[in-house]
Amino acid sequence: MKFTGTGAAEGVAIAQLWHLTTPDLSVERVTGLDPREQRARFAQAKTQADGELAALYASTMERDPEAAMIFDIHRMMLEDLDFIEGVDDLLDQGESAEWAVRETGETLRAMFLAIDDETMRARAADIQDVSNRLVRILKGIEENPMPQEQVILCAQDLLPSQTVRLDKRYVVGCVTRGGSVTSHSVILARSLGIGCIVAMGEQFDRLPRQGLAAMDGAAGELIVDPDPEELTLYREKLARAQEQRDLLAQYAGRPAVTPSGHRCLVCANIGSVVDAQAAKDAGADGVGLFRSEFLYLDSPDFPSEETQFQAYKTVLELFAPAPVVVRTLDLGSDKQAPYFQIPDEENPAMGYRAIRICLAQPEIFRTQLRALLRASGCGNLHIMLPMITSAHQVERTRSLLAELEAELRAQGVEVAPYKLGIMIETPAAAVMSDVLAPMVDFFSVGTNDLTQYTLAADRMNPRVADIFNARDPAVGRMIAMAAKAAHDAGIWIGVCGEAGADVALTDFFMRHKIDELSVSRGSILKVRRAICESEG
Ligand code: PEP
Ligand code: MG
Repeated sequence: MKFTGTGAAEGVAIAQLWHLTTPDLSVERVTGLDPREQRARFAQAKTQADGELAALYASTMERDPEAAMIFDIHRMMLEDLDFIEGVDDLLDQGESAEWAVRETGETLRAMFLAIDDETMRARAADIQDVSNRLVRILKGIEENPMPQEQVILCAQDLLPSQTVRLDKRYVVGCVTRGGSVTSHSVILARSLGIGCIVAMGEQFDRLPRQGLAAMDGAAGELIVDPDPEELTLYREKLARAQEQRDLLAQYAGRPAVTPSGHRCLVCANIGSVVDAQAAKDAGADGVGLFRSEFLYLDSPDFPSEETQFQAYKTVLELFAPAPVVVRTLDLGSDKQAPYFQIPDEENPAMGYRAIRICLAQPEIFRTQLRALLRASGCGNLHIMLPMITSAHQVERTRSLLAELEAELRAQGVEVAPYKLGIMIETPAAAVMSDVLAPMVDFFSVGTNDLTQYTLAADRMNPRVADIFNARDPAVGRMIAMAAKAAHDAGIWIGVCGEAGADVALTDFFMRHKIDELSVSRGSILKVRRAICESEG
């Protein structure tokens, strides 16, 4: 019997089906309760949750430090001021601790879901996970025990903390009714190296409760009760998958050099200090894109110079002497902070965003640039400007930087040498790249936006997903033009959009002597291998 879903994480498995039963976390509303009592219950649940998370962190750390990070994030979420204040307000109104946790969790979850950014949306699942843990504790329910034999785990939807608890000795694959390819659980499943099929929908309800099954995560295929022929086929697949893993492991810690001798750095895209540590552990050659706007989106108000300084300092020190490219604020369009409301626009992707905001409201830009300049001595700082469309924007930023450097020095603060670069993510920047290259120290191609603007296809609109294609020759010409301009001017050029991890494009990138590819941490080894085997 064959079942299909969306292939979300690569991995082949032959094992027994095992259904994860979800505890009943429904909450009845009861009002008029004593806030003091409920506050004490909440505090007690928080302490227990923290203890559980600390234990999970410690046990996961041994087998998968990267995956263990998630529990650290959850512990931080328990102490999040917005969360605690939200719960407190409801307790003051006489609600129960369960109700207050559930409602506040839902409000924060909705806030994250409203942000059109994959990573932020994935955080919504973490918030739900933390609030479920608290509700479970408040309802006195024990944690779901894990299986003790090799299984393919079947679940309605898998929360990150459930995924991360999966011990590879027992759980060799997972299948979910809901979920999407970009959910945090899938990212974690990938880092655990197990296959994952999501969005099975109604087919999921027809899955037997037990029995032997064979699954192929990449193909999104699950065969229940396979016949001898199917079993042989899957055993061969298993052997091939193991061979692939062994081959990929050889690339860990190995410099990425093409057969013709071109060295290309494989760096990581990050959005936070926690991501930076995980990227470092995954063997990144540096940070090719620190999306600094996440510091702003993660915060109830504009983050202060000091908060930003600490974040940049930590990441720079972690990677020193390797390069860290911090992209200046790219708010606007799909990334909206609640405290910085940009009035509705007809065309936000082409509207008031990124460098346009920073130059129009220099007080915002000044805070960030001062924090960056103060951190310059902590490592190999590269400052990168997003959404550049004209040389004028680079000139204005340079003069602002010069002014701030003088200001800091006058205050007795050292400013160490740093690099200034721009993103090539608009056709204007690509077309003008020969003029822009001599003005900066590096380029990095943002293929996500460059593709949408070059092909006039909204990156968020599924109806034009077939047109939005970074492999389109029109995008290729833009990249080739920028690469030539960069090299003619003697500066380096990287690619930090999603296409950087598309190994079908690696030959193209290497032919154009792209100097750096910046990708999500799970793609680092795959990209290293593609470079080493490329024809470029
Ligand atoms: C890009 O546009 O390719 C890019 C890397 O930036 P973002 O996806 O954050 O817009
Ligand atoms: Mg972009």
